[in-house]
Amino acid sequence: MTAAAHPEILRATLFHVPRNPFRVSGSLEFHEDGGLLINSGRIAACGDYASVREAHPEAAVRDLRGGVLLPGFVDTHVHYPQVRILGCLGYGLLEWLQRYTLPEEAKFADLDYARVVAAEFVRALAAHGTTTALVFGSHFTAATAALFEAARSSGLRIVSGIVLSDRNLLSALHQSPDSAYRESTRLIREYHGKGRLLYAVTPRFALSSSDAMLEICGALLRENPGVRFQTHLNESKPEVKEVARLFPHDPDYFAVYERHGLAGRHSVFAHSVQTTDAELERMAARGSSASYCPGSNAALGSGFFPICRHLAKGVHFALGSDVGGGTGFGMLKEGLQAYLLQRLAPEGFPLAAEHLLYLATLAGAEALGLEGEIGDFTPGKSADLVYVHAPEASPLAAVMRNAPSAGHLLSAIFTLADSSCIARTWVEGCPVKT
Ligand SMILES: [Zn+2]
Repeated sequence: MTAAAHPEILRATLFHVPRNPFRVSGSLEFHEDGGLLINSGRIAACGDYASVREAHPEAAVRDLRGGVLLPGFVDTHVHYPQVRILGCLGYGLLEWLQRYTLPEEAKFADLDYARVVAAEFVRALAAHGTTTALVFGSHFTAATAALFEAARSSGLRIVSGIVLSDRNLLSALHQSPDSAYRESTRLIREYHGKGRLLYAVTPRFALSSSDAMLEICGALLRENPGVRFQTHLNESKPEVKEVARLFPHDPDYFAVYERHGLAGRHSVFAHSVQTTDAELERMAARGSSASYCPGSNAALGSGFFPICRHLAKGVHFALGSDVGGGTGFGMLKEGLQAYLLQRLAPEGFPLAAEHLLYLATLAGAEALGLEGEIGDFTPGKSADLVYVHAPEASPLAAVMRNAPSAGHLLSAIFTLADSSCIARTWVEGCPVKT
């Protein structure tokens, strides 16, 4: 799949956040009548349409006025084998895992089943404007390979890996550390760094991993430079208590991962709701990131993500949908839920539209070490884009025609846009195939 080599200007309203708005105020960049010059799948210029047009009279123009172009969304925490259990409400984490999640994930021993769900999964990402995702694969190697294959044919950027566990789940989901090492190494060779695919070493969480399994994860990271790491950390109180019981010699949950060399610059820890200040200090020192999954935190009753404490200690974080503990694939909806929950949290942070767009785009790219490639419209980056165009008779269309300010327009998109408003999704200048 190659992008057209001739330059083209996309004319639409543009928003992007090329700097961290938690550190630099006024980070939101906006062009009401904008021009985004795309050449060979890369962003070549971004600005007001008139000036981009004047500088590039040779370029073709695609008129997308009436809608908004945003950088493609980056979902930093999502489970591919959980598409079909979305919406199981009413439980906390550990009971939800036992009742719904683990039995569903056991079905992925059947490769035909896995292939069908992998196709549903990548289609759902693209339909919601997500162009890059850090994905928990399956406990089964063939099912995880099926995800990589589906990602490759769609064109999406997917970072994923076999989910590793050797205790405390259903026995069908356990593998030995030796087999985990062999199978992970096989998939790393086959998929890591191939096209837009990257591999992530993925122990499910400390609760389902022995020291021997975590040691294998450390070996995989050391032997395969550039491979990412993901797992869960400090999601619910009963989970934290159980991890403390299983690892009585570690001072806290994060220390279990640290001890095995799993906490680095390319490590993303999902949830971090119950994380202590001492853990946050060490996460910051190691350059590790948290994935903030507001919908999931609320649906499972895990708690409020402490944004202010992560900011105070300097821990980077980005948004994740956490399908299927979360409430769906939409990163715009996830942004809205972050906003709403921070309004209610005892020590909440007043998120503005620029924070939401940053957390759904560049922050995710930074967590994955892909900030040089994606996340905003800086010239030279890949043209990973989403085009928001509301159905004509919708409330969002009415707001978009009348929004008094750029900030209102963007916050209305986060408030009202669902997948019916995601008109097109491109990766590297090519429409994502679904
Ligand atoms: Zn999760």
